[in-house]
Amino acid sequence: MSAPLVDAARLWDRHMSLARIGATPEGGVRRLAFDAAEVAAHRLLADWALARGFALALDPAGNLFVRREGTDPAAAPVVSGSHLDSQPSGGRFDGVFGVLCAFEAMETAEDRGLVTRRPLECVVWANEEGSRFRPGCMGSAVQAGEMTLAEALATVGDDGATYGEGLDALRAALPEAAPAPLDRPFAALLEAHIEQGPLLEAGGELIGVVDRVQGHRRLDISVVGREDHSGGAPLSLRKDAFVDAIEVCRGLAELCRDETDVLRFTFGRFVVSPNAVSVVPGRVDMVLDLRHPDQEELVRLGDLVHAKAQGLARLCEVTVADSSWHAPVAFTPAIREALSRSAAARGFAQREIYSGGGHDARWFPGRCPTGMLFIPCENGVSHHPAENVDPAHAAAGAQVIADVMLELAGEG
Ligand SMILES: [Zn+2]
Repeated sequence: MSAPLVDAARLWDRHMSLARIGATPEGGVRRLAFDAAEVAAHRLLADWALARGFALALDPAGNLFVRREGTDPAAAPVVSGSHLDSQPSGGRFDGVFGVLCAFEAMETAEDRGLVTRRPLECVVWANEEGSRFRPGCMGSAVQAGEMTLAEALATVGDDGATYGEGLDALRAALPEAAPAPLDRPFAALLEAHIEQGPLLEAGGELIGVVDRVQGHRRLDISVVGREDHSGGAPLSLRKDAFVDAIEVCRGLAELCRDETDVLRFTFGRFVVSPNAVSVVPGRVDMVLDLRHPDQEELVRLGDLVHAKAQGLARLCEVTVADSSWHAPVAFTPAIREALSRSAAARGFAQREIYSGGGHDARWFPGRCPTGMLFIPCENGVSHHPAENVDPAHAAAGAQVIADVMLELAGEG
């Protein structure tokens, strides 16, 4: 089935309508998971859905499914979507774009009276950003069986409320939503998202076919010396943990140097103890965050850190421990091919790309055919009020999602 053209003006209007909910003076949005603005954004989408005759269902983790029925209601649905929550000072397109691409695909099918065999669904995943309840991608993790529901519901947010209490507010605002189970079978899962990086814009491509989510290895590194009086202790007798920690950081940065500029190497956390003006630092605890699309490279570099960190210190003891590991996640070749075929047929310049950030779709490749597409975002800026996209790029992304959703759903 070759899908008709999506309605680019409607798609853009819907983005602007959602951008008014939780709008900030800087031009972005603030919608934390289950807060009043995020619930209102769900409500607006629900109103649009009900006006089109679509059905609503909410699962126990707070994921909302908007459904357009197919001729075979027993068939597993083709599902696409993303999230409506934002960073505390977030932009207008992160998440929203993926939700609206799926919704536009369903509206386009509705406009043209297309009949599909499988149901089409637009999903809004709960708490993707993790900016109120940590970690992020929580609703999708529970739906996919990667986290227990009890653990999610008991998670306490920064404001002292639990995830379960937040979810009650969402449920109260969506009385029309039927209950949906966890661990639902999907025929396929798609997610469209803004790139949140500079590559598509630099290359002039409209569509990035995402081949994988890069891997992520985090190491806790501690440098332990000895506290001393900063006036009394001669330099020759000190074991200054801060001075050695600098050597360790510099040495590891050198060891992990990457001419290809693919590796992401960050000391995002660096805590000096006791952090007092007249005390020689006795201890430094830091977190090294390594990200790379290639699993072997992450293993090699992390192991190199374990092996070499002690040797980079002059006097102090250095310990290294892995604290988290996410292997790279590869998306399904057949879905990547379908996205690429649609982009080619529509005449949209495309490239293969990997995802630097985590997304809800990352939980699903082991469960159903799964894929992602990116569109460019202005200057690669995201998680920021200045986040912006070209309306023509948004329409191109929605078109590809519509093409592939309809192809996968089959004619009714
Ligand atoms: Zn996002």
